[in-house]
Amino acid sequence: MPALAQVLDFLYPPRCTACGTALASEPGRRVCARCVASVERMPEPRCEVCGGPLESAVSEAIRCARCLAHPPRYRTARTVARYRTTAEDEPGSLPALIRRHKYGLDQSVGRALVEYMGDELPVSAGDYDVVIPVPLHWRRLWWRGFNQAALLAAEVARRLDLPLDTTAISRKRFTTPQTARHHDERIRNVRRAFTVTHPERVRNRSVLIVDDVMTTGATVDECARVLIAAGAICVDVFTLARVL
Ligand SMILES: [Zn+2]
Ligand SMILES: [Zn+2]
Repeated sequence: MPALAQVLDFLYPPRCTACGTALASEPGRRVCARCVASVERMPEPRCEVCGGPLESAVSEAIRCARCLAHPPRYRTARTVARYRTTAEDEPGSLPALIRRHKYGLDQSVGRALVEYMGDELPVSAGDYDVVIPVPLHWRRLWWRGFNQAALLAAEVARRLDLPLDTTAISRKRFTTPQTARHHDERIRNVRRAFTVTHPERVRNRSVLIVDDVMTTGATVDECARVLIAAGAICVDVFTLARVL
């Protein structure tokens, strides 16, 4: 006799969280293969530091102009997908889904986002001791009920078989959303926003910070700054998407 879940799946076939097509042949999945495959990638060649595109025509250039002018505190940043803000209004696109997730209260979207990370993560387990998500302020966490960066970080930690630490850093200042801010403003906005609550848990450790979307990198760089100040050996960044 089929399990109740199978009967329900038959009566109400699960649908792709992004585009809404039936997922009948893909048990347990929340996003259809077509949506995952349609994700835009960051253009190449990429900056060896921030992972952003190298705008320079000089073939020897390995760092982008921004990283050369303002070297970040983190060692490297890697991302899976390109976040084109104009795609936020395209139904079924990753930016549309992330936006729905960020401003909605639908936690199932978080589990869908995890599937977009694909099979191969652009980071390897041997480089880190611990995975730490970019924290949310408790007020926003209370309002939203979950931290999407923590959902992604939990999956990264699980796949790399590394410990996850969601409380080593906390957000002490309530910052307004980074969207619609200029670069300098973003840096000012996040300055002193984070505090290392458990320095003993990051001291002499190599840390991988995880966030959903990297915009200018000001937020993850500020996290890296406080972690290094607390004694972390090095800090790398992994985000699901990066605005370009
Ligand atoms: Zn789909
Ligand atoms: Zn760069």
